[in-house]
Amino acid sequence: MNTRSLRFRITAWYAGLLAGALLIFGVSVYLGLERYLYWDLQRTLGADCRSIAIQLLSQHPFRSSDWLSDEIEEAYSPALNARFIRVIQPEIGVIYLSGAPKDGAFDPSQVPLPNGNEKNSSRKVALAGGHRLLVGEAEYTAPDGTKFVVESGVPYHQIEVVLHGLLVTFAVYMPFLISLAVGSGYWLMRRSLQPVDEITRRAEGITSTNLSERLPVIRTGDELERLSTSLNRMIERLDEAFQHINRFSADASHELRTPLTVLQLELEGIAQSHCLNPLLTDQIGSALEETQRMSQIVESLLAISRLDAGEVKMGKARLDLGQLAASTAEQMRLLAEEKGILFRSNVAVDIYVEGDRSRLQQVIVNLIANAIKYTPEAGEVEVSVRGNGRTAVLEVSDNGVGISAQALPHVFERFYRADKARSRNSGGAGLGLAIVKAICTAHGAEIKVSSQEGHGSRFTVELPLLDVSENDLAKPALRTH
Ligand code: ADP
Repeated sequence: MNTRSLRFRITAWYAGLLAGALLIFGVSVYLGLERYLYWDLQRTLGADCRSIAIQLLSQHPFRSSDWLSDEIEEAYSPALNARFIRVIQPEIGVIYLSGAPKDGAFDPSQVPLPNGNEKNSSRKVALAGGHRLLVGEAEYTAPDGTKFVVESGVPYHQIEVVLHGLLVTFAVYMPFLISLAVGSGYWLMRRSLQPVDEITRRAEGITSTNLSERLPVIRTGDELERLSTSLNRMIERLDEAFQHINRFSADASHELRTPLTVLQLELEGIAQSHCLNPLLTDQIGSALEETQRMSQIVESLLAISRLDAGEVKMGKARLDLGQLAASTAEQMRLLAEEKGILFRSNVAVDIYVEGDRSRLQQVIVNLIANAIKYTPEAGEVEVSVRGNGRTAVLEVSDNGVGISAQALPHVFERFYRADKARSRNSGGAGLGLAIVKAICTAHGAEIKVSSQEGHGSRFTVELPLLDVSENDLAKPALRTH
């Protein structure tokens, strides 16, 4: 679990605050209930004392010595109800003491005599065995002037049982409530952060090639909405900047095209002249070569810029990628054989895709040309096409020089050459793969490369297959040469 995440921190805060609030609530309820029960018991004990005094002691002198005892036993059954009752006549001493309760909760004879300070109030008395008694006391003067002290008590654990019950309830329900709150809080946070997830996912998918796309705007009227709107504005600005750069490259290439063609024609004219000395002919020939190279670069640059800017009208024909790859491979077989390279093509037919035939052919040509270019004599190059689920897969692999791990992420960039000397010698300007990538993107295709330096490379193009019903994939037709 990521403890630094917003989701975790807010949930933790929320749970902490809730736990704190519940704790304060629990403590207040506990203390409040304890006070109330204490007060209520005191009141009951006081009422008992008063009722014994008014109903029984007011009849002093008593009819017989056991009369008071019988009356109290009958009215209050102290032993049965675990009550302590004592009547004291200060001049004589204890004239009534209740018996030990049935459950043996306390021994009434152990309760110390009142010391006279707690008139008409109550006190807590601790007895042997850890028992505690709450004893209420009232002084009474009978109509004949005789003074009495009446005490009535109950075991204090009656209050403790209720409080203990409350504690158990809290102990069971509070963790449950807190877990429920944490769970639902986490879920709610997850839900409310889902739009941010969506924005992140969509933002991840926006590259220089699809800057026209926008992020979903979350209509919450708060920071989230502002964030998505601001990001969209930023993408818009980036889009404009990219378009500006593309337009500039396209315009510059376009402007260079004509003077370069003129220069090339002029040089060709001069080269054909017979009155030149051999040295000058050589120099003119080399200038012509460079001009041709420059023209090629300008053409490639113009093609990429136009593709990137979406200015090129792509044909959308239904075509068999297998057949296209097979025929292109055949045309290039000679090039491989000249270099002593074993050239294999392993192509399934009836792999229908939608696209621009000449552009896709350019992809195949560039990939095969590179494979041949970067594979030494007696190496192997293989072209394959197959259907894989809903995609058509074109693969060009070789066992040539390979690409280093540092160079691999850059091979599709414009003017990038992993080995500058080798690439330039073979006429490469580092634009071939940039064109391939631009065409693939325009076709909604994905291009991947895997390579190991010294062991070869594999370029894989994945294009969406046309509806399977239109393809007869069941046919295992394979053309292998
Ligand atoms: P270039 O015209 O220089 O070949 P590309 O854009 O076609 O330019 O390729 C870019 C770089 O990628 C090349 O300079 C080369 O270093 C590397 N590369 C491309 N294809 C292969 C391959 N099949 N084997 C090894 N390296 C390759």
